[in-house]
Amino acid sequence: MRHFLSILIVSLVTTFAYSQEEKPLILGTASMISDMATNIFGDKANVQNIVPIGGDPHMFEPTPKSAQTVNKANLVLMNGLTFEGWLMELVENSGTKAKVITTTEGVDVISSVDYANSSDPHAWMNAANAVIYSDNIRKAAIELLPEHTDYFNANFEKYKAELEALDQYIIDQINSIPEQQRVLITSHDAFQYYGRKYGIRLESAMGTSTEADAQTSDIMQLNKTIKETGVPAIFVESTINPKLIEQVATDNNIIIGGELFADSLGDEESGADTYIKMMRQNTDKIANALKQEKKAPEAISAEESSFDAMTTGILGIIVLLLLAFFALRRKR
Ligand SMILES: [Zn+2]
Repeated sequence: MRHFLSILIVSLVTTFAYSQEEKPLILGTASMISDMATNIFGDKANVQNIVPIGGDPHMFEPTPKSAQTVNKANLVLMNGLTFEGWLMELVENSGTKAKVITTTEGVDVISSVDYANSSDPHAWMNAANAVIYSDNIRKAAIELLPEHTDYFNANFEKYKAELEALDQYIIDQINSIPEQQRVLITSHDAFQYYGRKYGIRLESAMGTSTEADAQTSDIMQLNKTIKETGVPAIFVESTINPKLIEQVATDNNIIIGGELFADSLGDEESGADTYIKMMRQNTDKIANALKQEKKAPEAISAEESSFDAMTTGILGIIVLLLLAFFALRRKR
């Protein structure tokens, strides 16, 4: 009975506190995490992200406004695995009382291919890992608002089914690419988890972080891979300057398969403004571009030379007609 009474009092106090103010504020560091949190919290919280849409979470520089927002937060959801090097200082400076949760807790971590003793942060690129992120968010939600436990559990089950369908969709799409052409070349190493899960080989121009400058040796390696595999397309990323990848595409006479979303969701017009839509759109772009046959250089030069022959022919006829015209005029 005493136990029951104390639960009653706690929930009355909580209800009173939240109905007096707005809904609790939940902050995801990056937009993918906030979107997962929105699916779990539903209408019981106000969910926002610290790094704006289109921003680069590796390189984020917090503003005084970010500190104010963090100060008001009731819960902060981070990726961890060295993704948000700026976060702990921001949390300390903000003076927030919010608990900080690592949403990747329990995922099978891949170590960085570029830095020794460092982990690759891009675990959300495997849709099965998104179930683990969401389960960690579910636990944090229940701890924060225990009166909505059933609601959060139900939201989690529904979202989990959607994530499992997404996972199967990606498996099917990648399997539809000819095996030799399952090579994904992008700006930075954000797709290792994706590649390992779905069976696609990865090459990148810049490494795991976006900080590092591309090395000439990396570019030479990329050119070599493109020639060896005959891969028909390479990809740019929404948060990274596309110049380097565009240059590699031009040098190798292959196409840009599209803009992929890795470290941020897209805006409302992008069709990639939720985690599930982002993963589906990436997969569609990858599968459609890599399924194509590579445009053979011979075909292009043949087209060009037939165009030249036609132009020369037409010009020749015009010159002959002009000559004939002047010759006739002179006779008169
Ligand atoms: Zn990244």
